[in-house]
Amino acid sequence: MEPIMNQIWPKVFQRFHRRSLFSRRSLSSWAEHATVSASTNSRHMKPTLLVSRLYQPSNLHEVGQNTSLQGEMTCKSQRLMQQAGLIHPSNPGCYYYLPATVRSMEKLIRVIDQEMQGIGGQKLDMPSLCSAELWKASKRWDLMGKELLRLKDRHDGDYCLAPTHEEAVTTLVAHQTSLSYKQLPLLLYQITRKFRDEPKPKFGLLRGREFYMKDMYSFDVSEEAAYQTYESVCQAYTRLFARLGLHCVQVQADTGNIGGKLSHEFQLPADIGEDRLLLCGNCSFAANVETVSSDSTDCPQCGTGTLVESKGIEVGHTFYLGKKYSNVFNATFSNAQNKLAVAEMGCYGLGVTRILAAAIEVMSTEEGIRWPGLLAPYQVCVVPPKKGSKADKAAVIAEELVQTLADALPLLRGEVVLDDRTQMTIGKRLKDASKLGYPYVIVVGQGALEEPTRFEVICQKTGEIMFLSKEGLLDLLGRVETI
Ligand SMILES: [Zn+2]
Repeated sequence: MEPIMNQIWPKVFQRFHRRSLFSRRSLSSWAEHATVSASTNSRHMKPTLLVSRLYQPSNLHEVGQNTSLQGEMTCKSQRLMQQAGLIHPSNPGCYYYLPATVRSMEKLIRVIDQEMQGIGGQKLDMPSLCSAELWKASKRWDLMGKELLRLKDRHDGDYCLAPTHEEAVTTLVAHQTSLSYKQLPLLLYQITRKFRDEPKPKFGLLRGREFYMKDMYSFDVSEEAAYQTYESVCQAYTRLFARLGLHCVQVQADTGNIGGKLSHEFQLPADIGEDRLLLCGNCSFAANVETVSSDSTDCPQCGTGTLVESKGIEVGHTFYLGKKYSNVFNATFSNAQNKLAVAEMGCYGLGVTRILAAAIEVMSTEEGIRWPGLLAPYQVCVVPPKKGSKADKAAVIAEELVQTLADALPLLRGEVVLDDRTQMTIGKRLKDASKLGYPYVIVVGQGALEEPTRFEVICQKTGEIMFLSKEGLLDLLGRVETI
């Protein structure tokens, strides 16, 4: 391999170097052309995001509702996300996350970061490629069975692509010999790709083989302190889902192969959910059916309510681990008496890509995506008139409006797109906008040419249509929450 590389590399390098010197000028003008519309490319103006230029290869008019996609079982979110050019299937259980999805996911990650750091979480990033040694020490190398994606390196060493990081984080903390009780609780988390060898990947991003997860691990001085940390993480999860406008239930759960004594799932009630939940109509009792041994439908908590079964999509999971892993890897700290003690642990997951898909699943209509407001890839779509139509002259007003919004509302910077496909009627573009789910769609038509100027604003979530002046529009959009 090496000699070949030595032969090729200098030439490739030379060519690359030469080209980059020669074409610097043309490259920069290309970049300008790519983002700036023809009539707004004067120097003082900010670039406008044009729908015709966004890489969102949608099939809004081609894929029928019942088309089976790549032989996987489909659901509403998968169908809508593929039609809208948000995801593209690669191999079973794996997807390309296209630019609009990445924008949405980055927003979700910012919300998660705020909530996790709000309770003292510190973000790190651990290797996905994990040595079998660690997993053998915890005995999970055998316990995980076929779900663990295993591979060998060139030295015949066993590795896995990690689905979770209890072993890795505990051994990391164990390596710090000077950890003091004054530094606890220690909450470490990451948001990374995880892997699971699903036998039957299905439902798009809801059950894939490669996905993003937020996993946090806590280290505490005592069982009591660990329960307090556990509680504060559960509260942060509840706040997070409330901010996204998602109805989420916290249910008692089975501890599964992670182990430990106490566990809760965070479930979004949905028809396609794979978990069966029992909810009490009378009190806050909620449990996964797996954890309820009796066949009785009486609520064990209040005694008077009746348990009703519902289906749910699991979007979060918390576990109190005790010393299960800290004993194995010897994760210790020096206590107030200056003696070494083994840390009490907890672990807390959130399915990042799953939250996105589940939110689309529960909020959308059959025809179009509806986003949690904070997570929409773009907040506003401005629709100018059709070329050659009566209102054609309003096209300039639409472009000016986009600039005005960018100048007056810094929070909307990068959030406003102009649907410049003016060969299409306004009606057709509104249909597409409804399918893609921009929270606000502004039609710049005949009303924009009249005195007083009026813009038609469609609030997609409620379906409400308003006719507003420019000031009214700025006032409305100034209240949009972005992250
Ligand atoms: Zn009850």
